[in-house]
Amino acid sequence: MNDLLPDQSPVWQYVENTFKRLLSRYGYLEVRAPVLEQTALFRRSIGEATDVVEKEMYTFDDRNGESVTLRPEFTAGVVRAVIEHGLAHNQTQRLWTTGPVFRYERPQKGRYRQFHQLSVEIFNLEGPDIDAELILLSARLLRELGLSDQVTLELNSLGTKEARAAYRATLVEYLKAHREVLDEDSLRRLTTNPLRVLDSKNPEMAAMLAGAPRMLDHLDAESEAHFERLKASLDETGVRYVINPRLVRGLDYYSRTVFEWTTTALGSQGTVCGGGRYDGMVEELGGKPTPAIGFGLGIERLVLLLETLELVPASVHEHLDVYLTALGERAQQRALPLAERLRDALPSLRLQLHCGGGSFKSQIKKADRSGARIALLLGEEECERGTVGIKFLREEREQENIPQAALVERLALELSA
Ligand code: ATP
Ligand code: MG
Repeated sequence: MNDLLPDQSPVWQYVENTFKRLLSRYGYLEVRAPVLEQTALFRRSIGEATDVVEKEMYTFDDRNGESVTLRPEFTAGVVRAVIEHGLAHNQTQRLWTTGPVFRYERPQKGRYRQFHQLSVEIFNLEGPDIDAELILLSARLLRELGLSDQVTLELNSLGTKEARAAYRATLVEYLKAHREVLDEDSLRRLTTNPLRVLDSKNPEMAAMLAGAPRMLDHLDAESEAHFERLKASLDETGVRYVINPRLVRGLDYYSRTVFEWTTTALGSQGTVCGGGRYDGMVEELGGKPTPAIGFGLGIERLVLLLETLELVPASVHEHLDVYLTALGERAQQRALPLAERLRDALPSLRLQLHCGGGSFKSQIKKADRSGARIALLLGEEECERGTVGIKFLREEREQENIPQAALVERLALELSA
């Protein structure tokens, strides 16, 4: 679990502001559900035989002996809220949420125990048009962050529950015939969750898995048409993708469309964003049958990717425009109201007031270290004459002294330059 320190938080804000702006451009609304839910919610929605439920959840009894769990992902909690408040009764919802999620995993680069996701969830739209919109939204987000060339969209369809059950039988038969190459995990999954075997990264199983029967060849007619229309929409809008017939995703609840955005720049923690359709979940959790689709995007991995590839714009770290110094008692007293006047007049101005006194030299040093472009100098003489000094900290420019009355106009001009 990481602390987010002030030298890093601007990058997070840059990422968060980028997706918030984007989601509002698509007309999506925010929901915030509790961090803690009843354990049963996750067991039922994510699935007993998944890594998350089997070994990654932070689960404990509260003082009343009730089993509760820190959310390991967002979808289950959002679905619970949607059912509880009737949000999907005769209406559609395009929702997003963000915050921390918790999984007891082996910590490593790109894998933490408290991490953060942006989760987008859509209810009561059957697709494939909305599937395409959701994928386009994720594509635009990655594009706005400058990552288009660094990520690949992988796409697959898992069909309906019924088609999947029939396929599962075929797959199990094939896997059993190759039992001798299955590792321990896969042998266990053979009975609990055989589709997950396809997802194995074990190189010794790669050849065997390459020859396994593909879900895509066992789709029901409607799922197949759905998948074809989705691909056509992506083709039309110029979003490139690769079909990955072994993409199954880690959680149990998916049906039909599944997708991932992956990168090779982060080693084995290469999935930045993953999502898909979960048409059965609302009903499974006690609501009316409600088609749904969504994705979860890992913010740590996105930030790591931006930093690794040096794609964070330098301006992200510039957090101040002006540092106002105040030398001497009288100047210190005048500086506070001056700072407030400037903030009144220039709402976008980012100004820090020097507090705590000290010598001119030490104040200028602080101004320089603050990253501000401009230091305003207020001393005894400036107070006397009603002027203020302007020192350009990042440019080869003469220091100036101007009337305080002209300062607002002058700063506005400098800021727009
Ligand atoms: P992985 O295969 O990497 O374990 P996952 O399938 O468990 O990923 P999801 O449950 O789909 O991941 O979560 C969505 C996104 O959250 C992932 O694509 C990834 O970017 C991020 N993520 C998942 N687990 C972690 C973690 N422990 N630390 C940081 N980010 C994570
Ligand atoms: Mg995982």
